[in-house]
Amino acid sequence: MNVGWASYAAEWPGPLGQDGAVVVVGRPHGLRGRCPVCGRRGRLWQAALALPQPFPGALDAIVGGCSRDHAVRALPADWSDVAAVFTRLTDALRADDEPTFWHEKLATRRARQAEQARLLSRLDPTARRLALELLRSDELLDVAQIEAVASAVLAEPPGQHIGGQPGPGAPS
Ligand SMILES: [Zn+2]
Repeated sequence: MNVGWASYAAEWPGPLGQDGAVVVVGRPHGLRGRCPVCGRRGRLWQAALALPQPFPGALDAIVGGCSRDHAVRALPADWSDVAAVFTRLTDALRADDEPTFWHEKLATRRARQAEQARLLSRLDPTARRLALELLRSDELLDVAQIEAVASAVLAEPPGQHIGGQPGPGAPS
């Protein structure tokens, strides 16, 4: 993620971090306000979460806080939190008084990402890694397809070599 204000980068703990999410924290010049965690006013730290591909590099909601710790605490903690953020973004786009073609296009994309994040929140680490790989090769795959492919591949007996790139429609 290319953000000028970032001075620290850290792996995110938990499933999101295992999947490659990275948090960046910094203290942008002149950013002041109220900390959403403790309510203190003053100069703020800012934090953003870079999700693994093919999700957007930074969630649109970049959060601030009075300390590094508080800035980070306002970020989504896991995949179901991420899904909730995408759902909020979808609703906000669709609530616009003068919706445009672009609003709807982006809303459709955010709704799909919410569903994908919800799917990831249900999967175990191996299935999640596989689902992310499938999504990277085609981010338009619907979640039912991904879930079907992931469970078919994971049902193979252990030790058996899985050749090539599994994909929907691949011969089994
Ligand atoms: Zn605070």
